[in-house]
Amino acid sequence: MLSLGNTPATNKTVLDRYMKLPIPDDKCQAMYVWVDGSGENLRSKTRTVNFIPKSPSELPIWNFDGSSTGQAEGSNSDVYLHPVALYRDPFRLGNNKLVLCETYKHNKTPTDTNRRRKCVEVMTKAAAEHPWFGMEQEYTLLDIDNHPLGWPKNGYPGPQGPYYCGVGARKVYGRDVVEAHYRACLYTGINISGTNAEVMPAQWEFQVGPCEGITMGDDLWMARYLLHRVAEDFGVVVSLDPKPIPGDWNGAGMHTNFSTDAMRKPNGILAIETAIEKLGKVHAAHIRAYDPHGGKDNERRLTGLHETSSIHDFSAGVANRGASIRIPRGVAEEKTGYLEDRRPSSNADPYVVSERLVRTICLDES
Ligand code: ADP
Ligand code: MN
Ligand code: MN
Ligand code: MN
Ligand code: MN
Repeated sequence: MLSLGNTPATNKTVLDRYMKLPIPDDKCQAMYVWVDGSGENLRSKTRTVNFIPKSPSELPIWNFDGSSTGQAEGSNSDVYLHPVALYRDPFRLGNNKLVLCETYKHNKTPTDTNRRRKCVEVMTKAAAEHPWFGMEQEYTLLDIDNHPLGWPKNGYPGPQGPYYCGVGARKVYGRDVVEAHYRACLYTGINISGTNAEVMPAQWEFQVGPCEGITMGDDLWMARYLLHRVAEDFGVVVSLDPKPIPGDWNGAGMHTNFSTDAMRKPNGILAIETAIEKLGKVHAAHIRAYDPHGGKDNERRLTGLHETSSIHDFSAGVANRGASIRIPRGVAEEKTGYLEDRRPSSNADPYVVSERLVRTICLDES
């Protein structure tokens, strides 16, 4: 069997000796992070800067070989990295930084998978409504051989039931990754708000939010980066596939909770109902935006079973986990709060999802 990550070739204890070496006060290792040409995977590379950045705009624009990431032709391969958000680095510690970047082509236009640029424009237009998002990122941990972590190698674990929010060996698989990731997110400054074990064993969720505007996409992408990186340290693979195991196993989504100022006020339920009416008119457009392949990925997940609605129908209901839109019970009772859009796929781009919601609900675009 393939064995990486935990081989004696690298040793985390030995590594720790070097990671503890002090570095000069005025030096900062800046790890530039970006979404690659798949629109799903992340890349990163590091440079030293001779000052401690306080905001992303202080950092230099950089570039990379876009022909190696599906973002450019070999003959014109330089793609630019524009720093847009700064986080403390939970791996290198000290004054070191993680730097979330947008990608631009040689002609200074956004690359095809730079979905942040448009999202910023839309969030700016809707700023007066103070759109808040909370995203529930579900994911599955896989062993280094791509088999779900902790599952018997020649078969399946017992049926779903004991695993959701479970505790105990044979109910919970991979908690170390989850705990480490949670702390890493808090350290960086990401607005992580919780985590839980999911219905399928080795499947987990973390929540980020509420975040206003563009911060939602920024924090979620960086939280995904941290998840892949932490799991790498444990020799574990993270899958954001929306239906990693076919059959009677839950898929993975990215439920998106959404509110505006009006929804959060007394009797905001009226604004929530208006929003749901608008959403019902543009179901197909939202489905196209809710995974990186125009709805193809979500076809496997939104079957109407396993706490999902059918991809073909729009529905809404109080406390209904089989609906496209759920109004949480407490929101219905207090007549104020937010709605939950349960349709986005686990591998959706949070910039695209948040932009789509604001276009429909705040800007009345279809
Ligand atoms: P669920 O019951 O669907 O599992 P979770 O507790 O996992 O819900 O996630 C709820 C999410 O809703 C959290 O990310 C939280 O930050 C977010 N949230 C709470 N209030 C609001 C609000 N007013 N607007 C947008 N998101 C909100
Ligand atoms: Mn080189
Ligand atoms: Mn949840
Ligand atoms: Mn969940
Ligand atoms: Mn949910």
